[in-house]
Amino acid sequence: MAQCELCGNEYDKTFEIVMAGKSHVFDSFECAITALAPTCSYCGCRIIGHGVEANGVFYCCAHCASKEGIQEVRDRATGGQRPAAQGSQAPTLTDMAVDVSQNEPPPLSKL
Ligand SMILES: [Zn+2]
Ligand SMILES: [Zn+2]
Repeated sequence: MAQCELCGNEYDKTFEIVMAGKSHVFDSFECAITALAPTCSYCGCRIIGHGVEANGVFYCCAHCASKEGIQEVRDRATGGQRPAAQGSQAPTLTDMAVDVSQNEPPPLSKL
């Protein structure tokens, strides 16, 4: 049985995380987060999601980054980073407008 390097618990379901070439063994994600997750430079919480990195400093979210004067960062960034499948499921306003025009009855002048 392996032993959690943080709390010392001996457990048969420990797991290993390799970070920056160094191996770590934990008995729980909570121990792994406590030992390895970066902390937000502004509010001090643990960064478990993607977080934000600016000027070599980590923040938990764009709000905390903006409070430290980082203005370029947005959590809801727009651009070509979203999967194409999302766009095909929900029609855009432009697509709906095209559909409406195609369903119009023929002009009266043809009758
Ligand atoms: Zn532990
Ligand atoms: Zn924060």
